[in-house]
Amino acid sequence: MNVCVIGTGYVGLVVGVCLAETGNDVICVDVDESKIERLKKGDVIIYEPGLGPLLKRNMEEGRIEFTTDLAYGVRRSLFNFIAVGTPPGEDGSADLQHVLTVAKDIGRNMDAYKIIVNKSTVPVGTADLVRKTIAGETSLEFNVVSNPEFLKEGGAVSDFLKPDRVIIGTDDCRVAELMKELYAPFVRTGNPILIMDIRSAEMTKYAANAMLATRISFMNELSHLCERAGADIEMVRKGISTDSRIGSSFLFPGAGYGGSCFPKDVKAIIRTAQDYGLSMNILNSVEEVNERQKGLLGEKVIEYFSKLEGKKGDKILQGKTIALWGLSFKPQTDDMREAPSIVTINQLLKAGASIKAYDPAAIGVAKEIFGDRIAYGKNVYDCLPDADCLVIVTEWNEFRRPNYDKMKGLMKAPVVFDGRNLYDPERMAQRDFQYFCIGRGVYNQKNP
Ligand code: NAD
Repeated sequence: MNVCVIGTGYVGLVVGVCLAETGNDVICVDVDESKIERLKKGDVIIYEPGLGPLLKRNMEEGRIEFTTDLAYGVRRSLFNFIAVGTPPGEDGSADLQHVLTVAKDIGRNMDAYKIIVNKSTVPVGTADLVRKTIAGETSLEFNVVSNPEFLKEGGAVSDFLKPDRVIIGTDDCRVAELMKELYAPFVRTGNPILIMDIRSAEMTKYAANAMLATRISFMNELSHLCERAGADIEMVRKGISTDSRIGSSFLFPGAGYGGSCFPKDVKAIIRTAQDYGLSMNILNSVEEVNERQKGLLGEKVIEYFSKLEGKKGDKILQGKTIALWGLSFKPQTDDMREAPSIVTINQLLKAGASIKAYDPAAIGVAKEIFGDRIAYGKNVYDCLPDADCLVIVTEWNEFRRPNYDKMKGLMKAPVVFDGRNLYDPERMAQRDFQYFCIGRGVYNQKNP
């Protein structure tokens, strides 16, 4: 089948490569010329495990090509996937300008019947807008499909190749059959392709992300109570996750959720509800709890040094060197959009600290955000010399089993603020670390 994917970001590139992997002829289009130039040379442009070899293989087999020429892609393809960004607008609503620009360009350039597949996360009713926009440019026939994407950065390739389910929103049964054919190679183990009306498909994506964000904020809120009440959120998590009605996913307390999806999608569904005269009370709180949680690590550091030195003030961390592990919003990605690390770093810088940060994948992205306002380590230990404390923001695997003696030898003081509960508090106390984590009040007495 001939497929055009418009937008070669975290979603579009994975979709394009995976559709090529199953034998389709794929043309990937982007307005960003430098991205396309790099992709033409086989440079993956994003950190996504497994994507590089797949891209290389499909380029060698001639099944995938990259261009800035949208007309070329659209004319050669029956399926035209829109996979451009839908960032939050000022009022929290999804900004549809890129989606509608692409719709207009498709309408202007199509030369025969086309299926336009919306992969971008868009509010309920957007397919109607896309249809109207295209119809304003052409009298040719076309169908608009909603096909929201559920891949997770860091596991995007395997998520796309083996999806839990595929959601297809369409009002045309022939289009449903063609979409099923396109997706058939990915659901051979029986995972369902769910065909539904377009509006329900659009809503499903927001519902899924809002539910997952709710679980995280619920646990983060509970962690505060555990900390005050002398309970251990990690025990509580294990206790509830063994209930099959609850399950174990997305129950990890931490430094707050970030990324390009949860924050913006929660905001967007709240905003959509307002357009329909409704208030999303639970989701308003989910967002509020998350905003507070993102500030928690920085507050803990400031409070610790305030107490230690018996002083207060705006520049309480002046003269302090802080090592920071983890910049990406989650492990296995270089994506720093809405990352909790950005909030923490800004708080610590504002309080006068010098920061040296390390991340296995996101240093390049961090340099674009912070430039030389912070220093960058080459590895975990390179951040530690003379550090007054270590702050852990992202749970990369390589942070889980460090050499504690080496850490102590390098740091000015063995003090760790762990935003991901990576270590056992009792073992940390035995190793003579002052260890501050999230929601583990039962160990508080060990931290003076
Ligand atoms: P992204 O910002 O990484 O990529 C978007 C790409 O679209 C960029 O390369 C940009 O240059 C390109 N683009 C913008 N306007 C264009 C135009 N007019 N023509 C051609 N290309 C254009 O975004 P992303 O993370 O891939 O997200 C894309 C969509 O998928 C969003 O709606 C997002 O909510 C949704 N989504 C993202 C994820 C994720 O994990 N990132 C998961 C599921 C769904």
